[in-house]
Amino acid sequence: MTDDCIFCRIARGDLGTPFVAESEHNVAFRDLAPQAPTHVLVVSRQHLTSLQDAVPQHVGIVADALVLAAEVARQEGLLESGYRVITNDGPDAGQTVHHLHFHV
Ligand code: 5GP
Ligand code: ZN
Repeated sequence: MTDDCIFCRIARGDLGTPFVAESEHNVAFRDLAPQAPTHVLVVSRQHLTSLQDAVPQHVGIVADALVLAAEVARQEGLLESGYRVITNDGPDAGQTVHHLHFHV
């Protein structure tokens, strides 16, 4: 965890951001600038810069994030209508926050 990383600070509760769901390795909260009627971020509790930082020891974190994303979709009533889970990795993908996260 780093003090200058906004998602580290949110994930450890420093900013009082309400979590819509959480799990052992990840937290989920609403995006500040939603790009869809439902736009939730699933963010790892451990600081990883992006998906390319993930190595086999992080499989549990990444798998947990995807399961939590599906749980968020269920809570938000999106299972029948459908939803997307995406991660942006690097400049050409438009990544702006350099802490692993998935958009739901
Ligand atoms: P990226 O472009 O890195 O894939 O996505 C970063 C996302 O984080 C953006 O959609 C942006 O709106 C969101 N975001 C950035 N800072 C904050 C913040 O302080 N709080 C919340 N809830 N979302 C943030
Ligand atoms: Zn971080």
